[in-house]
Order: sequence, then C-alpha cells, then structure tokens
Amino acid sequence: MTTAHGGKQTGNRLVTGIPGPQSAALQQRRDRAVAAGVPSVLPVATERGGDGLLVDADGNELIDLASGIAVTGAGNPAPAVADAVAEQVSRFTHSCFMVTPYESYVRVCEELGELTPGDHEKRSALFNSGAEAVENAVKIARHATGRQAVVVFDHAYHGRTNLTMALTAKNMPYKHRFGPFAPEVHRVPMSYPFRDPEGMTGQQAAARATTQMAKHVGAENIAAVLIEPIQGEGGFVVPAPGFLRAVADWCAEHGVLLIADEIQTGFCRTGAWFACEHEDVVPDLITTAKGIAGGLPLAAVTGRAEVMNAVHAGGLGGTYGGNPVACAAALATIETMRTRELAAAAQRIEREALRRLDALAERTPAIGEVRGRGAMLAMEFVRPGTTEPDTEFTARVATACHEAGVLVLTCGTYGNVLRLLPPLVIPDALLDEALSVIEHAVAAG
Ligand SMILES: *Cc1c(COP(=O)(O)O)cnc(C)c1O
Repeated sequence: MTTAHGGKQTGNRLVTGIPGPQSAALQQRRDRAVAAGVPSVLPVATERGGDGLLVDADGNELIDLASGIAVTGAGNPAPAVADAVAEQVSRFTHSCFMVTPYESYVRVCEELGELTPGDHEKRSALFNSGAEAVENAVKIARHATGRQAVVVFDHAYHGRTNLTMALTAKNMPYKHRFGPFAPEVHRVPMSYPFRDPEGMTGQQAAARATTQMAKHVGAENIAAVLIEPIQGEGGFVVPAPGFLRAVADWCAEHGVLLIADEIQTGFCRTGAWFACEHEDVVPDLITTAKGIAGGLPLAAVTGRAEVMNAVHAGGLGGTYGGNPVACAAALATIETMRTRELAAAAQRIEREALRRLDALAERTPAIGEVRGRGAMLAMEFVRPGTTEPDTEFTARVATACHEAGVLVLTCGTYGNVLRLLPPLVIPDALLDEALSVIEHAVAAG
C-alpha cells in the first residue's frame, strides 16, 4: 500500500515490533559485554543507512530524524563519501600528519578557512572528536592571550572529557560523580527567550551576562567566551536576536577571544554553512566536528592566524588528528553539501516542518515553544499554561515515535525538548510521513 505521495506508509515500514527479535538478541549480548554507562536511545541493531532511513537487522525501516546526532546530514552514506573513503583506504590509512603530511589534511584546512565566517587570514588544526577540538580551542586561547579564565553559559554542552565536563552545564548524566573538574571555568546566564523575563531583548540578555563576566571574573582575566550559537544538548536554545552580536562586541572591546562551538550547528545544519552567519558574528575561533565528515571521526579548530599561530610547534596535535580517511570523507562531504545545495535544503526543511509544528502548537497547550533554525528544530513541552517542564510528556512522545518507527531525540536541561535533526538530504515524502507520526504522538500525549 502506498500513500498519495508515493511513499510507503509507516505501518508498512515495520515488519516487527520495535525493537524486533534480532535487536533484542543483540541487546542481550550487549548487556553482557558493553559497559552500562554507554546506553542507546533506541536499541535497534543498525544494518544499513540511506537518505533519511535506517534499516535494522529485523528488516524494519526507521525514519531517521537524528542523523547520528547531527552527523550524517549529507547522507548515510553519501555516495561520494563512500567512494572517497574506499579510494583512500586502498592507498594508505594513516601516516600521522605530524610524521609525514598529506594533501587532504591541507585541503580540509583550506576549505575551513574559506567556509567559516570572516575573510581574515585563518589557520586550522584537525582533531578526532568535538570535545578534543573544544579542549584545543581553550588551550590556544589561553596560550595566545596569556589569560586563564574561560566563560561558558547556562545549559551549555561542550563534551565529556575532564575540561569539557567542566565547560558543560548539566550534572546528570554528564558530570555526576566525575569531579573534580578543571578550574577557571565561569558560568553566566544564556539568552533563553522562552524562560527569560517577558520582552527581554538580546542586548539586555547580553548585558546580564557580560556584567557578570566583568564583576565576577574581570575582563582582563578572561581568555575566551565559549558559546554555542544555538545550543544543542542544552535544548536547541536560540538566543534572542542581537545577543550574540552584543557578546561578540564586548569580547572585542576587552581583548577576550570569542570561541563559537559550531560542532552541532555547523556544516549547513541551520540553513547556512555556520550558525554565526545568521547573526553576522565573526568568531575569533570556531570548533567544528559532527557534520564535517559524513560519519567519520574528524574535528577542527579554525581561527585567526595570529591566534592559532601563537602556539609553539608541537603544542598541538595528536596521533590520529586529521586522519587521511576522515579527511577524504570531509572533502567529499563538503563537495556533496555544495553540489546538492544542502544549506538551501535545510531552509526548505525548516519551512515545511515549522508550518506543521506551529500548527500543532496552536492546538496543543503542552507545547510551550517551537523553535530552531534550518534542520535543527525542537518543541519544548510544559504543563499547560505554565513554563513548568513536562519531562514525562516528552518521554512519552519520544517513545510513541520510536514505536511507530521514527527515530527522534530529546534534549534540554529539563529533558523536556523533542529535537529534530533530519539528514539534510531527507526526501520530502519521508519528512512528511515522520511529521505525521510526531503529530499523532503529541496528540496521544
Ligand atoms: C557533540 C558536541 C560536542 C562534543 O563532541 P564529541 O564529538 O561528542 O566529543 C561539543 N560541543 C557541541 C556543541 C556538541 O554538540
């Protein structure tokens, strides 16, 4: 049976309950071999990907609105990435860039220099994970400024290593009983329009934050302000217009470096190459990972040449950073983003999904806010008529989506945000189908 737009109905995509027997069997083995601290949102045994679909070992087709947490935006696999990886693997898999260099690493850095905001002279260094990139951005900022303090925001997420745990806001599950944490990390309020006082402007929210920076830390002690232009794990919080600009201006005035963590927002996710572009902000340093390499582990710090080059030779690096297979994947991913015009695709996803979600919010008092940009969209659930988070409602909606074969994620300090991160290449009909499932799940509440 097919629907009006020619796609299969969701009911027909599933051949077993979710999780099916093969997935349940894998879960049993996993429970005996894998540490309990590494869970999965949806324990289905993944067999294949596709443009917006994941197929499990039982033959169920799930609609993917997660992209492996904003990673496989260009496809899973993007055909060009699969080819580039195969070609590179057949020539050499590793040399360590710090032992003997190769062209693809340099080319990725050239691309990063071109694509990131600002036309100043830039340099980049490549790493393996987002957390590693953030750690290095902080190292570089401290070294270049000779200052120690780093300012981060409420609800921020920057990773799970020791320094990045300190930079991350949320205790459970990220920090709980993992201390002591790195010193000289200072947290200030984020602009969070849904939870800020009614009518607070971006400029006012920025003044609230920068006043704390000046009074509690002292501008001359601050190496860097580290911010996600749109917060990811913290709840897809989009700051009020003008907030980022005002924070950036304050940083420039006081010799504080602005580090934009675009690990989740970067690489066309928000409808532009980088989310800072929506606010016309040019950060001094920018961290990237996730969407950069089509699923291969790669991350980068890109920044002003004089800041990046302040660090002595040997001060930055790592055995695997900028691995040639990951670099080949990144170049193919960037090429796919250009040729398939995936920033524009993210804008189309925003228009189509917001139309449906805004209409849903109209008739659903439990939806406090619909927000986001591009293919990074969210609904925050509250008790009707209040801003009190409704975590249980959110969990029920997510579970109902999973049971109907739509992979969604939740996020937020209060766990009350349903987030949508579809691959940028998702076909319209699949997105439609997934949104219908979400509408039903929310209506069933
Ligand atoms: C995911 C994420 C990180 C951490 O990246 P990993 O590759 O998981 O280490 C850092 N910052 C932001 C904004 C992220 O979304």
